[in-house]
Amino acid sequence: MIFIDSHNHLDDERYDNDREDVILRAKEAGVELILTIGTIEKINDADKTLRLLDCEGIYAAFGVHPQDASLYNETIEEYLKEVLSIHKVVAVGEIGLDYYYKNSDRASQIHAFKKQIQLAKKLNKFIIIHSRDAAIDTVNVLREEFKDRKDEKINGIMHCFSGSYEMAEECISLGFLISFSGIITFENAKKPIEVLKKVPMDFILSETDAPYLAPVPYRGKRNEPAYVVKIVEKISAVKNLEIKEVCERILSNWKKIIHC
Ligand SMILES: [Zn+2]
Ligand SMILES: [Zn+2]
Repeated sequence: MIFIDSHNHLDDERYDNDREDVILRAKEAGVELILTIGTIEKINDADKTLRLLDCEGIYAAFGVHPQDASLYNETIEEYLKEVLSIHKVVAVGEIGLDYYYKNSDRASQIHAFKKQIQLAKKLNKFIIIHSRDAAIDTVNVLREEFKDRKDEKINGIMHCFSGSYEMAEECISLGFLISFSGIITFENAKKPIEVLKKVPMDFILSETDAPYLAPVPYRGKRNEPAYVVKIVEKISAVKNLEIKEVCERILSNWKKIIHC
């Protein structure tokens, strides 16, 4: 059985003392495929993440997070282009809109979001979307940018999905996979569970978003990729499918966008 963590932040300083052990524990738990997100705020921010690409099964994405959108400029874009040309860097992300934290105003968030989608299209990469308290604007941007989608093409991943089923449906029709995080293991997770029940297995991915959002029974602690097993177990319980089958379906979804 192969488990997949489609989203984490291994460049986070909370791993500076034991990053290799964290990766080793993931391997031991069967988490053989990882997509790690390198958040770009300035030049050279990619270095820590790029060093991880020597490990088998680790892939990376780079992007300017919506919270840092006001930092987006031509210099950063040139740097992004450079790192996106590196082998095993498969996606632009995480990008999107976050109206919960107000570090960057809405106009600069929408600007950086669109610019990075256009960059991804030009470089033939998929995108990883972060959307918080911004469902309507997120869907509007995606509709605008992906309205002439062809041939069931997968355009990217809605990471740590917490929206409504209607939003999930709309994102799927625009060519996005829906990735579920540890939130589905929380006791008060009624709404995300309802959404998970309805989203077809063909569009589901699993992620930790580590070091954030550790699943039960690790809630409140530092999260790590090995814990994605708990999230897959929850998907298997909600979907009433064997864990093995859930792993296989998630792997086949992963292969729709990452060709390894
Ligand atoms: Zn995020
Ligand atoms: Zn993230």
